[in-house]
Amino acid sequence: MASIFTKIVQGEIPCHKIAENDNYFAFLDINPLTEGHTLVIPKKEVDYMFDLDDELLAGLHVFAKKVARALQKAVPCVRVGSCVMGLEVPHAHLHLIPFQMMSDMSFTNPKLNLTQDQLAEIAAKVRNHLDQ
Ligand code: AMP
Repeated sequence: MASIFTKIVQGEIPCHKIAENDNYFAFLDINPLTEGHTLVIPKKEVDYMFDLDDELLAGLHVFAKKVARALQKAVPCVRVGSCVMGLEVPHAHLHLIPFQMMSDMSFTNPKLNLTQDQLAEIAAKVRNHLDQ
């Protein structure tokens, strides 16, 4: 069965899309740790990030770099952190998390409670900073 993220890529499940190309897709995490928390995935459905072949793994990071730079401009933050968890969704994904302080990156923190309208507004802001 297709993963929830494959369904997002295929448009069967809605998301707040940030960017897409032939091989990769980025969208806002629905339960963000911080404003702008984004997931970057390969469209190819592989469970574990470090099982991706070298080329796809390297390309994911090049794609994530563009997204991270846009996040840095769109969202007040000191830096954009990245991490791989993958305990919940078996489709490789990189978390990009704009942070002010180290503790913002902790997955034990309570998630932000943002409305769909707020998420849509953040996504639009980030998209506006892509390729600038
Ligand atoms: P993990 O697999 O532990 O890295 O966590 C999966 C992440 O995917 C969590 O941060 C969830 O909030 C996020 N997530 C799960 N379903 C969706 C969805 N439909 N849209 C956006 N993010 C999601």
